[in-house]
Amino acid sequence: MAGKEKNSSGQPLVNNQVYGFIPTDIDGVDTLAELALDLRWSWNHAVDEIWYQLDPELWMETHNPWVVLQNVSRDQLIKQMADKVFRERLDEMMTQKEKSSTDPAWFQRSHPSSPLTCIAYFSMEFMLSEALPIYVGGLGNVAGDQLKSASDLGIPVIGVGLLYQQGYFRQLIDQFGTQQALFPYNDPGQLPISPLRLPNGEWLRINISLSGHTVWLRTWQVQVGRVKLYLLDSNDPVNMPLHRGITSAAYGGGADLRIQQEIILGIGGWRLLRAMNIAPEVCHMNEGHSAFLVLERAANFMRENGVTFQEALTVTRAGNLFTTHTAVAAGFDNFSPSLMWQFFANYAKEELHLDFNDLLALGREDPHNLSQFFNMAFLAIHGSSAVNGVSRLHREVSRKLFRNLFKRWPNSEVPIGHVTNGVHMPSWDSVFADKIWTHSCGKERWRGRLESVERDIYCLSDVALWQFRNDSRHHMINFIRERFQGQTEDAGHSPEIVEMAKHIFNKETLTLGFARRFVPYKRPNLLLHNPERFIRILTNPQRPVQLVLAGKSPPYDESGKALIRQWVQFIQQHNLYKHVVFLSDYDMLLTEHLVQGVDVWINTPRRPWEACGTSGMKVLVNGGINLSELDGWWAEAYTPEVGWAMGDGHEHGEDPYWDAIDANELYELLEQKVVPEFYGRNKEGIPENWVAKMRNSMSTLTPKFSANRAVREYTEKYYLPAANKYKKRSSKKGMLGKKIVETKLNLQNKWWKMRFVQAQIENIAGGYQFKIMVWLNHISPDTISVELFAEGLNGGANEIIKMEIIGLAKNGLDHECHGCIGTSRPAGHYTARIVPCYENISVPLENNLILWQR
Ligand SMILES: *Cc1c(COP(=O)(O)O)cnc(C)c1O
Repeated sequence: MAGKEKNSSGQPLVNNQVYGFIPTDIDGVDTLAELALDLRWSWNHAVDEIWYQLDPELWMETHNPWVVLQNVSRDQLIKQMADKVFRERLDEMMTQKEKSSTDPAWFQRSHPSSPLTCIAYFSMEFMLSEALPIYVGGLGNVAGDQLKSASDLGIPVIGVGLLYQQGYFRQLIDQFGTQQALFPYNDPGQLPISPLRLPNGEWLRINISLSGHTVWLRTWQVQVGRVKLYLLDSNDPVNMPLHRGITSAAYGGGADLRIQQEIILGIGGWRLLRAMNIAPEVCHMNEGHSAFLVLERAANFMRENGVTFQEALTVTRAGNLFTTHTAVAAGFDNFSPSLMWQFFANYAKEELHLDFNDLLALGREDPHNLSQFFNMAFLAIHGSSAVNGVSRLHREVSRKLFRNLFKRWPNSEVPIGHVTNGVHMPSWDSVFADKIWTHSCGKERWRGRLESVERDIYCLSDVALWQFRNDSRHHMINFIRERFQGQTEDAGHSPEIVEMAKHIFNKETLTLGFARRFVPYKRPNLLLHNPERFIRILTNPQRPVQLVLAGKSPPYDESGKALIRQWVQFIQQHNLYKHVVFLSDYDMLLTEHLVQGVDVWINTPRRPWEACGTSGMKVLVNGGINLSELDGWWAEAYTPEVGWAMGDGHEHGEDPYWDAIDANELYELLEQKVVPEFYGRNKEGIPENWVAKMRNSMSTLTPKFSANRAVREYTEKYYLPAANKYKKRSSKKGMLGKKIVETKLNLQNKWWKMRFVQAQIENIAGGYQFKIMVWLNHISPDTISVELFAEGLNGGANEIIKMEIIGLAKNGLDHECHGCIGTSRPAGHYTARIVPCYENISVPLENNLILWQR
């Protein structure tokens, strides 16, 4: 199995195909390399012992197989490879890996003859492992976890992203609580990635043009189970110094740098796929950063089929999906017309054969307003056939944000759906969780439809659950002590403090966790609203509480840094070391430990700014319970059986008065609900109410808020229909696309002269009949729909009744339309309207014309 010449993809794996140094002349080392370069190890720990055996110390230190493999001595490798047991184990691991990469999974079983063969998933960041630091926060988390779940389920996804030399900054907190930002260089040779090489061994390079200069992009591959992620970076020695640093840091610099990163991601990313001969039916834009791909995908179709830009866009957008993650208008990337001119004047002319202002119109609310900035989210919307937000509440918020693109349409019809995010449970569960979940639900539990998970996990006994909770907390506290000790040493604290760090916290004490980016809308200091009251909660001698905190503030954000300082000084001034700790350098590894061990996860965003939030989902599988503002995912997850909620379910902006109300509610919940439930024990010493909440939360919420559910939903709700639509429109050199463009133009020219001539309402048995005369101005009745519309009652769905176009009226000019309604609502609730309807286009996303009767 561990043959020397071939790896599982059939390509020879020789030394020049990996970027670091690996002694592949030693028999079997290429197999090790293949395992080390597959990030499956970040969630499947079956191979861990192999790395441990190679170098126990380095493995414990880094948990990065690729680093272990590059550092282990030649002698040790030869020795291990000669060891029969080790070799057998290695071969077994390789067999398992190959099996899990090729066995039919959920997608193959559920959609065996699907037209969907490839989804390209574009994202500015991917959070897969701390060993590959190309992420900042929540957005990368969603991307990384969805790739992993796509691998579990066999969904044919390919990720496209950027390789940052410095990733995001690393955080140090000094003695005074001040955050220091460090930017260590990530040597690509030490990252679990490999250069993307052509069959002849040549390193694949992509070129793009930036303000008239050719820029070469290096290409990389990351193996994520059965899924591949391709990365681009501009640090090629061929490039001018000006360009080599474009991909240095995630979200670094101003608009000028950002637009270049986004050109590399969108345009470079699409070219990379084409260079590999990959032709995805579906492109999924995870946030608008990658939206330039809309242009390049269309340009590509133009070249290959000899059609106009509008036709190509009409065809290709059918296969594009845009997911928006922002809850505020300021969250969208905007570029000034002059910056756009610098980078796109030539592109519009040469590649798209398009007037520059027509290109800008794709990123504007009002295409005629030449001073409007170019908005990447608008481009993404104008280039997609479906758009979604990331929670139910965020869908509503997004509809408001985008409503000006759909003027005269009701808010409820702004074409934005939602898929609530989920997290990749196997990446976030602890060894303790893995054990009880495997016992209850089996090893394959995250690879199917999760149908029986709720029932199976519900059967766990109180004793087992409570033991699990205690083990998890104990394990985390050991980690916290060790980590805090290192942190106090690094920050130059006195030996007394360093010594004390080894003994902070109590293993049986109720432990709260709060870790997230320190930005104002998350209100990371809400717990400090009334310090005395909070100290009383922490230090109650019978029922003490402890809190572990972590979080980075954006490096140049003084107000965010002040929030961190406020916490550190609070701990110092009140000598609360035994009860509160602020751990530095919040990253994936730290998250993992915290979500696995805390009893309660606290989240205090200002509604509705937490578009979804994912950190709270990570505690579900580990038996942690959420206490959160009713925002994002928690607004749809919360019931009193599964956790605690604060806020009144309404929005109050930044009003300090409401912050005070929320803070008081938070204290009250802790004092009256959380603490008493944790310490209220039965005869066996078990907190029955607590354990019941744990059980409910684990069984009902874990499947719902898993990435498994989210990517299945994306597949069935969006990818499959988009692939079908794209296939239809693109066949015969885009014939249908041409027809759609013609119809749209025709409607645009004639629409505004259409009018309602006459309406009458007649009583009929069981309801009313509307008889309406419309003047269509020579528009074909086959391209429109005449409808009766009534707004939904009490927040319910709108009522839309398609009217029958009977034919020409007696005057030979107007069309007569009929539609019937029942008696449940007065006829006056209904208004007639005309909307576009042809060739299965998405309305109003692809055509927002509408004519109301009044
Ligand atoms: C989960 C996670 C996030 C996202 O957390 P939210 O609080 O839900 O925004 C951000 N950063 C890291 C390191 C994470 O693990």
